[in-house]
Amino acid sequence: MESVGMMDKVIRLSKSMIGEAEKKAVMGVLDREYLGMGKEVQEFENILHDFLGRPVVCVNTGTAALHLSMQALGIGQGDEVLVQSLTYVASFQTISATGAIPVACEVDPDTITLDVNDARKRLTERTKAVMPVHYAGGLGNLEEIYEFANDNGLRVIEDACHAFGGYYNEKKVGSFGDIACFSFDGIKNITCGEGGAIVTDDEDVLRKVRDARLLGVEKDTEKRYRGERSWEFDVNNQGFRYHMSNIMAAIGIEQMKRLPEFSSLRRKLANRYRKNLLKCNSIELLNQDMENIVPHIFVIKLKNVDRDKIREKLLASGIQTGVHYMPNHLLSFYHRNNLPVTEILFPRLLTLPLHPGIREQEVDYICEELIHCIEV
Ligand SMILES: *Cc1c(COP(=O)(O)O)cnc(C)c1O
Repeated sequence: MESVGMMDKVIRLSKSMIGEAEKKAVMGVLDREYLGMGKEVQEFENILHDFLGRPVVCVNTGTAALHLSMQALGIGQGDEVLVQSLTYVASFQTISATGAIPVACEVDPDTITLDVNDARKRLTERTKAVMPVHYAGGLGNLEEIYEFANDNGLRVIEDACHAFGGYYNEKKVGSFGDIACFSFDGIKNITCGEGGAIVTDDEDVLRKVRDARLLGVEKDTEKRYRGERSWEFDVNNQGFRYHMSNIMAAIGIEQMKRLPEFSSLRRKLANRYRKNLLKCNSIELLNQDMENIVPHIFVIKLKNVDRDKIREKLLASGIQTGVHYMPNHLLSFYHRNNLPVTEILFPRLLTLPLHPGIREQEVDYICEELIHCIEV
């Protein structure tokens, strides 16, 4: 084993992958001195549209994508949205931002995706939508969630922030279904620095989110893509400053070219982790379709091991780890019920470093250190 541990550099949990092409693209936008929303954003949307086979509206974060989707569906005060507690707090915040209640559900501990049977129990006449989260890039049994939604007249907003580039039933994530929202923040499968996208066939949703990202100014998108502005206009809905800038889009355009490389590296590294850790009795792996997804984070479940102690020891060996996520139903702002499955699962979760800049020898080193920490 080469002495990776002797390096004074920490192995980062996650990071952006930025090359000369991204830097040059940003410089190009800066040189043209048109930084706001214009032709680069339009071009990035077209590239994503071609990639996914349906219309895409870009915004400044994944959080904004989820929020605008929810608002476009008319979800608000008095409504309820079913969502797994084990997700990034952004999922919950976008629901409560509309005035609706995020109803915290259990996950299937094998996949950490929404437990549809638990969601079914929490259905009321106020339930308007369900938000499955594609945890770590995995999609669980998404088909079952769509059946449940169809049977009960619910809309589906997929929090696909972890899942860009992945496939489900031979279809690209975001190319099918009701509404899918992606994030292009600094550490996602591709990045714009910050960024997000809404993908849907629903013309009404598309029109509403296009206007709402620009303060509700009607048809402002079309004008900006022609390099014009709306000086006389009408507003019919609450809007926000949620649009994407040309600087962000220029990064995204370059990152899209590298998606195949990033995806296969992430898959290769995650498979190497799985192979190395399979033999450890104190570790359980998630049930994921590793051939078809793009793994966004690498999460393991520890058995009878003090997770936080392991984290400390790994950090001392130069290995950053994470915990995805603090269950939202345990946060003061959202606490309404208890979720025993989630509460037992949470302290067992440990996220190991995964990004396309990690080398296979580093994965081997991390696994060796981890197993050593568990065994002593
Ligand atoms: C990243 C992320 C978001 C929000 O995306 P931002 O672009 O960071 O706002 C939402 N949900 C999940 C599960 C995420 O990982």
